[in-house]
Formats: sequence, C-alpha cells, structure tokens
Amino acid sequence: AKEAGRGTFAFFEESLNERAQQRRQMENDLRIALERGEFELFYQPLFDLEKDRIGSFEALLRWNHPRRGLVSPVEFIPIAEETGLIVPLGAWALRQACHEATRWPDHVRVAVNVSSVQFHRPGLQEIIVQALGQSGLAPERLEIEITESIFLEGSEATLKLLHTLRTLGIRIALDDFGTGYSSLSYLQSFPFDKLKIDRSFIQNLLTRPGASAVVRAITDLAHALGMETTAEGVEERGQLAELRNQGCSSVQGFLFSKPMQAAEIIRLLDTAPAR
Ligand code: C2E
Ligand code: CA
Ligand code: CA
Ligand code: CA
Repeated sequence: AKEAGRGTFAFFEESLNERAQQRRQMENDLRIALERGEFELFYQPLFDLEKDRIGSFEALLRWNHPRRGLVSPVEFIPIAEETGLIVPLGAWALRQACHEATRWPDHVRVAVNVSSVQFHRPGLQEIIVQALGQSGLAPERLEIEITESIFLEGSEATLKLLHTLRTLGIRIALDDFGTGYSSLSYLQSFPFDKLKIDRSFIQNLLTRPGASAVVRAITDLAHALGMETTAEGVEERGQLAELRNQGCSSVQGFLFSKPMQAAEIIRLLDTAPAR
C-alpha cells in the first residue's frame, strides 16, 4: 500500500508539473498569437422579441491556434487575465468589433465583453474612444458587457467609470446576471441598459419551478428599473415560448444560431428576412 501511495503521489506531482508547464506554454503562445494575429471574433445574434428582428451581435473571441485548431475562450481568457495580456487582447477585440459593426445595418448593435481586469486598468475609456473614432461607429451602437466581479474592487471608482462610459453614449449590460454575490445592490447604484440572465436559469426554465420564478422576478425587476433583459443560452422552442410569455426583451442561444464568423453575418443580413 505504501508503494502504491508513493507511486500515486509521484504521479500527482508529475501532473501538477505538467500542468504548470502547459500554462507557461499557453502564456507564451498567447503573447505570440497576439503579435501574429491568430485571434478572431465570432458573432452570435441576439434576437429582439419586441421588434421581431436581430437587435445585436455579441462578439466572442476565438483563437486559431496553429497546432491545436480553434481554442475556446474558456481556456485562454483566465490566463490572459492573470498575465495582463487581456488588456491588449481586449483592446484589439473592441477595435475589431467596432470596425466590423460598421458593415451592418444602423439598427444592429455590437456587444463586446470587457473583463474586470481590463476595467480596472487605466485607459479603458481612451481605448473605447479610439475604437469608436477609428471605425466611425456611432457610440449608441456599442454595448459593453461587464460582470458583477467589477464591483469587488473599489466601488466608487467603478461607478465613476461606468458613468463616464455612459456619457460617451455607449450602452452597458450586466452579464451572467444572477450568478454573482449580491447582484441586487448594484442595480440601485447604476442604471444598466440591460441584464443578461445567466444560461443556468434558462437551462432549468422548463424543468424546475424555481428557475421559472427566478427568471420572472429578474425580468419584472429589470423592467421596473427601465432595463432590458436578454435570456442567454436559449436552446429549445419551449424555453423561447416561456421567455416570450414572461416579457423578456431579447433572446440568444443555439436555437437561433451558434456564434459565427464575420463573413457569415454579412451573408445572413443580406439574405435572411426577419424571423
Ligand atoms: P459569455 O459572455 O457568457 O458568453 C456566452 C457563452 O455562451 C459563449 O461561449 C457562447 O458561445 C455560449 N452560448 C451561447 N448560446 C448558447 C447555448 O444556447 N447553449 C450553450 N451551451 N452555450 C451557448 P464562448 O464563446 O465559449 O465564451 C465563453 C466565455 O468567454 C464568455 O461567456 C465570456 O465570459 C468569455 N469571453 C468570450 N469572448 C470574450 C472577450 O472578447 N473578452 C472577454 N473578456 N471575455 C470573453
Ligand atoms: Ca457576454
Ligand atoms: Ca453571459
Ligand atoms: Ca457565462
């Protein structure tokens, strides 16, 4: 048993080492990838239930890795955040998304995810102003998606920046709503344009009575505060029917479309009539 124990330990240690090494490799690769332009934005439509048409697209990062193929942001965003590489990467995403959106009809917005690391580094305002200026995109057509985690650090400075960004004319959405620590307290301190209801609630919408009640409470609360709502991760017709019924403003999910390449959107907007 002792032998086996030691063996197990040795194996565990080795795999930890391997993991650390993989991480360093990834960090190094990320740096190079940024220089080589291996990142790409995919776009997923948000369908506006009131206007019965696509209202916006969310930009989602992908990494075209030379050996590994398409790498998910779930894998590289945390490392980019830890190493600070998210700052130049996020700036690139903002510039690219604004640029791409100028090719879409005027009523279609673009939503860009902004990490809390990016949010708390100086210069975000300048980066956004520059992205808008260089592309010529109207500020009203840019929405940034932030999560509650931005409030974990210095809330006064955070609110100040949110207000400053709002003054530029851009819209601000609170992402993954309902999964954070004390979501409700932020709602009274800042008038977000939109709450994005986390996919976990939508997943259980038809099967757990509790989930349905939570979604209804969020939509009612949002609307009372003058905020829109988007349901994330809508995969089934039944979920869509329930969300319509609950007065959700817009829906996003595989039922409508997976995230797609920029060129596909141009084709879609050219050919598809409103659903
Ligand atoms: P998120 O912001 O919550 O984005 C929504 C995620 O849900 C996307 O995953 C999207 O592909 C996925 N999704 C959409 N509809 C469905 C559905 O019906 N079913 C399921 N199962 N999933 C659906 P993705 O693209 O892998 O992105 C994962 C996360 O990575 C994002 O979550 C966001 O937190 C982060 N991320 C992506 N791009 C960026 C970026 O440019 N900047 C930053 N800071 N984070 C990003
Ligand atoms: Ca998002
Ligand atoms: Ca989300
Ligand atoms: Ca999420």
